[in-house]
Amino acid sequence: MKNVEKNLYDDCGVLHHIINSTKNKQRKETLSRIESNILLAYNQYPTDFTALNGIKRSCCNNDDERQSLIKLYNSRAKIIKKMKKEILNKVALCPYCYYANTVDTIDHFFPKSIFPEYSIYSFNLIPCCSKCNRIKSDTLPSSGKRYIHFYVDPIPDKKWFYVKLAWNAAYDRADLDITLDSTVLGTDMKKLIMGHFDNLKLLSKYEKEMVHLISDSMESLNGERDVDRCCWHFSIRYNDEKKNYGENYYLTALFHELSTNHEFVKNMIQSVYD
Ligand SMILES: [Zn+2]
Repeated sequence: MKNVEKNLYDDCGVLHHIINSTKNKQRKETLSRIESNILLAYNQYPTDFTALNGIKRSCCNNDDERQSLIKLYNSRAKIIKKMKKEILNKVALCPYCYYANTVDTIDHFFPKSIFPEYSIYSFNLIPCCSKCNRIKSDTLPSSGKRYIHFYVDPIPDKKWFYVKLAWNAAYDRADLDITLDSTVLGTDMKKLIMGHFDNLKLLSKYEKEMVHLISDSMESLNGERDVDRCCWHFSIRYNDEKKNYGENYYLTALFHELSTNHEFVKNMIQSVYD
């Protein structure tokens, strides 16, 4: 899990261009009337999510204005299509779950149904998978456990996601424990990430997937029984995952553990061959 690098857009220019090219006369008039208020809302886009109680919905006085703004997002204007395509191409994995590799929707971090002024504001448009988008739905950042804003919240690059493995001889299976290092994350960031994981039920998803992968990874070793060589094979996978998805990806953490926990690998090999 890591921040998404954001392209820089001239959001004010995009807005102005799209208002000018709107063919529907009434909608064009409505949007022109509130353009300066939308620009003001862009300038005031919240980045401090701890103090959202007083957030002002700045520019929508009626349903006509709301609908005109919401419709901007589905505009067929080239400039909007291009921006959406670029945003979707920014990531290989969904930043919300760091699990799905089909990233075909864009989440409005501040839902456009509630904050229509941010319907095409690039800072508010976060690429994600359809499942995460559906679960997050119209959740507001201020309501209880909020979601991570992947452009704004500073997620440390240094390793903080750990997987610990122990061989459970009684049940002949791996016991797995995921921990997040608070010394690297700090209390607030850890709380934020845990809340985000909880909202999307990610830890149980990762655990299930890792249990499968541990048994599959034994098969991929083609009968190798030497503990050091097995760990060396796992370290290759660790480096690949780390290179592609960073230190805090659940599979990077799993293969880091498999490449360093010789005791576990020894027990796992014994359980397969003895
Ligand atoms: Zn997702």
